[in-house]
Amino acid sequence: MLPELATLREVQGFDIRLAACDRELARVPGALEGIDAEIEAARSHVKAVEEELRQTAAERRHAETELEEAEANVDKYGDQLLGARSNEEYKGLQKQIANTKTRIGTIEDRILALMEKADELEDKLADRKRTFDERSTVLEARKTEIRSRAREQEQERDQLLKRRAATFAGLSEEIAARYERIRGARHGVAVAPIRDERCSACNVRLRPQLLEEIHADHSIHACETCARILFFEADAPAA
Ligand SMILES: [Zn+2]
Repeated sequence: MLPELATLREVQGFDIRLAACDRELARVPGALEGIDAEIEAARSHVKAVEEELRQTAAERRHAETELEEAEANVDKYGDQLLGARSNEEYKGLQKQIANTKTRIGTIEDRILALMEKADELEDKLADRKRTFDERSTVLEARKTEIRSRAREQEQERDQLLKRRAATFAGLSEEIAARYERIRGARHGVAVAPIRDERCSACNVRLRPQLLEEIHADHSIHACETCARILFFEADAPAA
């Protein structure tokens, strides 16, 4: 194989690996965001119970105020009872006292129910917090893994860029420019192997005359359809 063709193949090899690195690195921010969203979702399960607890506590405070007011009313009616000037007024106050005491019972029941509900919610909260801690530990570990993998990829990328530059420097100016032109126009692939007498990149069958010329290996030849530089895989030196 022509030395320059071998060099082109090497450069192409670097470019394919670099493109793979870039693709993987491009996925990193999205992957990290996805995990953050999962952590946020797990956190919102905790927050929902905390909110329910806050509401329950507020309802209880409200009920306790109501209770105090009702108890004060019972005292007030009791005092008024002592100064009642008619039997009718007396009976009316007694009825109000009885009604208020019934209401006090209802309020007390409600307070008890709210206390029980708060206990249940505290258990639920502890449970959700535990689940959140477990889940976020796993997810944070995954983020660390992704970041460390990305650092490795970046290092590999730097290495590949250096090696590519050194190899690329071995090409003549004309071939180097041609390579870059085709690479830019053909989705990063400027050099393609021949398979079953076809250009493996665009899959077009090659003329027998062209195949013979490539076999002769006297100069660099391109696919007449996609312009990619062609080579026979069997002619390749061991990598
Ligand atoms: Zn082609």
